[in-house]
Amino acid sequence: MTSLDDLPLRSDLRGLSPYGAPQKRVPVALNVNENSHPIPEPVAHDIVASLARAVLSLNRYPDREFTGLRGALAQYLGHGLRAENIWAANGSNEVLQQVLQAFGGPGRSLLGFVPTYSMYPILASGTGTRWIAGTRDADFELSPATAAEQVRRAKADIVFLCAPNNPTGTPLSLETITAVYDATDGIVIVDEAYAEFAPDGAPTALTLLPGRPRLAVSRTMSKAFAFAGARVGYLAADPVFTDALRLVRLPYHLSALTQAAAVAALAHTAEMLAMVDDIRGQRDRIEQELPGLGYRPYRSGSNFVLFGGVDDPQATFEALLAEGVLIRDVGIPGHLRVSAGTEAETSAFLGALARVGRAGSVAAPGGAGEANKLVP
Ligand SMILES: *Cc1c(COP(=O)(O)O)cnc(C)c1O
Repeated sequence: MTSLDDLPLRSDLRGLSPYGAPQKRVPVALNVNENSHPIPEPVAHDIVASLARAVLSLNRYPDREFTGLRGALAQYLGHGLRAENIWAANGSNEVLQQVLQAFGGPGRSLLGFVPTYSMYPILASGTGTRWIAGTRDADFELSPATAAEQVRRAKADIVFLCAPNNPTGTPLSLETITAVYDATDGIVIVDEAYAEFAPDGAPTALTLLPGRPRLAVSRTMSKAFAFAGARVGYLAADPVFTDALRLVRLPYHLSALTQAAAVAALAHTAEMLAMVDDIRGQRDRIEQELPGLGYRPYRSGSNFVLFGGVDDPQATFEALLAEGVLIRDVGIPGHLRVSAGTEAETSAFLGALARVGRAGSVAAPGGAGEANKLVP
């Protein structure tokens, strides 16, 4: 059989493994920050009816400009945004990739502040963009001065700011975002994948868009909106910015089925987001209960919690998995990350963690270690 080494693969891809968290069938999956509440059945029926109508015209290519979806997303975001301010793709990962295709590439660079979303360096690598790893302040915070100083020094073409930051949960102030914008002539992307989990009235970078044509705010329907399987991400920016992305998108990149499903879901925003309050409550509960178990949670504006004080993250990860609870080893020594689930799932996690103990001392079965290695 041919091995990968026998194929004329790009030299910068040699030796790499595909990215992805372990996909395991477990009773309690709290590893990829999904909304673990299923879509309400009446909404599901409405989405199916829309899909059924769309199926009848699948003989034709879909609306290449996905005008209906852009309008629905603009209306959802508010802040005076219109369809031409919106861009969408198959997940915000694809949106971010298109940003790098348009503004990055060979000879150009992307700056992010680590630890941050693991896809950023991977998207950089895939588009031939040089990745620059910036650093954070204590407790993974990012002050305006710390960020702006590094942006000035790095002279990066693109800066990705993850707000709140994955995997740490750290909220980001609008002051840091404006300081970064003012410190560069390049593109600044604020990745607000978890914006809906922020406290009510929390600031969003959407308010900064007017007068800042190099700024874009990316969002996703995958997390709060309970639509991860449909693959819909989007961004808001100046119409000139969204026009630039049309130069690199594949024609008809959003299928008619994706567009129909997303528009139907957006017509039920209240029901789709109904569990967000509940999830925020479970996140707060995790933050309150972890110290009593001997762990140190970080402040989180998202639907997950990073916690330190883990003597052996690998052992604790495996011991929890043996209890049917899948969380995430994000590669930060002494730390693990858990998504807030339903009340029952969160109870299962906290109960298992209490049984397992700080050293993760319960013997783990074989196999889990191998899966865990996939997480960078
Ligand atoms: C989950 C996540 C995304 C990507 O989500 P999609 O499913 O591709 O829309 C983007 N950014 C961050 C920080 C995430 O955690």
